[in-house]
Amino acid sequence: MTASDTLAAANDLLMPTYAPMSIVPSHGQGSMIVDVDGREFVDLGAGIAVTALGHHPAELTAALVDQASKLWHVSNVFTNEAAVGLAKRLTDLTFADRVFLSNSGAEANEAALKLARRHAFNNGYTDKIGIVALHGAFHGRTLFTVSVGGTESYKEGFGPALEGISHVTPNNIDELVAAVNDQTCAVIVEPVQGEGGVYPLDVEFLQAAREACDRHGALLIFDEVQTGAGRTGTLYAYEQLGVVPDVLTSAKGLGGGIPIGATLAAGPAAEALTRATHGTTFGGNPLACAVAAAVLDAVATPEMMANVRARSEQLIGRLNHLAASTGVFEQVRGMGLLVGAVMGPKYTGRAKDLQIAGLEAGVVTLVAGANVLRFAPALNVTEAELDAGLDRLAVAIEQLVAS
Ligand code: PLP
Repeated sequence: MTASDTLAAANDLLMPTYAPMSIVPSHGQGSMIVDVDGREFVDLGAGIAVTALGHHPAELTAALVDQASKLWHVSNVFTNEAAVGLAKRLTDLTFADRVFLSNSGAEANEAALKLARRHAFNNGYTDKIGIVALHGAFHGRTLFTVSVGGTESYKEGFGPALEGISHVTPNNIDELVAAVNDQTCAVIVEPVQGEGGVYPLDVEFLQAAREACDRHGALLIFDEVQTGAGRTGTLYAYEQLGVVPDVLTSAKGLGGGIPIGATLAAGPAAEALTRATHGTTFGGNPLACAVAAAVLDAVATPEMMANVRARSEQLIGRLNHLAASTGVFEQVRGMGLLVGAVMGPKYTGRAKDLQIAGLEAGVVTLVAGANVLRFAPALNVTEAELDAGLDRLAVAIEQLVAS
């Protein structure tokens, strides 16, 4: 099929919840993608921060094939070695004592939010259901996670949002402190708001959230679905922020491209979800867990984290240079290899135009809202691949400036 045949068929057959780009990827290698027409692209989006080691890296393919030759699925009627192996790695590498395994970021957050309410309930509080979240936050598309998310339009037409949820302005400590009270069971934040414009939270704000939670017996949840699995230069962003959550959610890059979600918890929070309180058929699926364990083996190494930091400097440096020389960007921000370039005053709201121009020039980027061009390349992207992608972006910027 040609690209236009596939796009037309997608339009007819798939519910039109997305607006796919004009190319149809066919195969990839490392940080390069080839489309069905044979055109090559540098991939600086990594499937929205998912293909942490690039496209079909040898070590993940080996883990997948090895597990596929043994056992694919057993359900939660059984436990399995791959799930336990992944949980062991995650608990050894983080603050957590226990893990709930699921299939996506939304599910990981759904479990975290239910865990927080159940934790309060188990402690004898029937009305401690309050959840404090942030404007601009994104936690997924289930009804609980859109209710907690900070985008009103995502809630429209789905009936009443869940009750007990309030939102405060990111980095506004006064609003946060005023919103957290004895009825609050959890505060949930993304250390860097991904979909919300690659907007980093201040360490002081995160510390204030930790203190407010401690004062009122609430759990602090870090949604590290986008920032996790090495993306910010440490395995999880909390490690470099000096604020330790009670619960942390991980997905996206954790599977390297295979769907998985994980809800990590420590201390009493790790005991809150007990038998028959929560579940999912595919959670702990051996194939997904074997691949995720191999992702962690590759990512949680000084070499990989050094590459993230070096490539981050290269990316931010070149974007700042493009900002200064063209005025297309007014700010470059982010952490590690989650970077946002905010469109300059003459180009307000035109991130998508630049993304499309980039695609025409042979580079895949992402947007985060109308005004931020987002970069989330593979963690093992090479200096040369990144330079090639940014050279192509420079061509796209020239086109945008001239248009
Ligand atoms: N949380 C954050 C911070 C995300 O960025 C996303 C997805 O973009 C989600 C949750 C939802 O993850 P999923 O799309 O896997 O359900």
